Amino acid sequence: MGPPGVGKGTQAARLRKELGVPHVSTGDILREAVQAGTPLGRKARSFMDSGGLVPDDVVGDLIAERLSRPDAAKGFVLDGFPRTEPQVMSLDRVLERVGTTLDRVLSLTAPEAEIVRRLGGRRVCPKCAAVYHVDTKPPVSAGVCDACRSALVQRPDDEEAVVRQRLAVFFEQTMPVAALYRQRGLLREVDGSGDAETVFEALRNGLAAP
Ligand code: AMP
Repeated sequence: MGPPGVGKGTQAARLRKELGVPHVSTGDILREAVQAGTPLGRKARSFMDSGGLVPDDVVGDLIAERLSRPDAAKGFVLDGFPRTEPQVMSLDRVLERVGTTLDRVLSLTAPEAEIVRRLGGRRVCPKCAAVYHVDTKPPVSAGVCDACRSALVQRPDDEEAVVRQRLAVFFEQTMPVAALYRQRGLLREVDGSGDAETVFEALRNGLAAP
């Protein structure tokens, strides 16, 4: 978990490779649904475009379905979920049903100015969800995905006013989730302000720490 733009997606993708378990990002699943124009996407779109959260029941159903698939049986990296206290409760129910528990909750932190800078330059691949930054992680050919050659885009919710709203939502609704997992002894805070390699080392340490 962590504020928008802190590097959750980038780091979760690395963890997926390292651990050999699926990377489950509610943001990616919702964006795919919006792009495909499914009923889920139609429901989610206006919330996402305005920087708000998609309703808890919608995201809860989505996660229940995703974590029930066979590939999640050996573990998973959750990214961007749970983001509210009711989502923590629905995750508890799903985990009980599938017979597993969380090993760790890793919370990435970074100064607000750094977050705004990162989001302003972020470009994403609409096809394979790879993430780039115009200054710090540019693709080999400007504006083109290295992995699948699709044209890169800026996420509509990376526009400045929407970023401010997303940060406000994070502080109001998601910070209490961190407190809850701290109480449960699962939370490890990790400095997310360095380069991706340094942050990944810190994350691994956070995972291994008792
Ligand atoms: P992300 O890619 O994680 O920044 O998510 C992008 C957007 O998808 C968020 O700003 C929300 O509108 C929506 N979203 C993603 N995950 C959740 C969640 N767990 N609960 C509610 N909305 C979510």
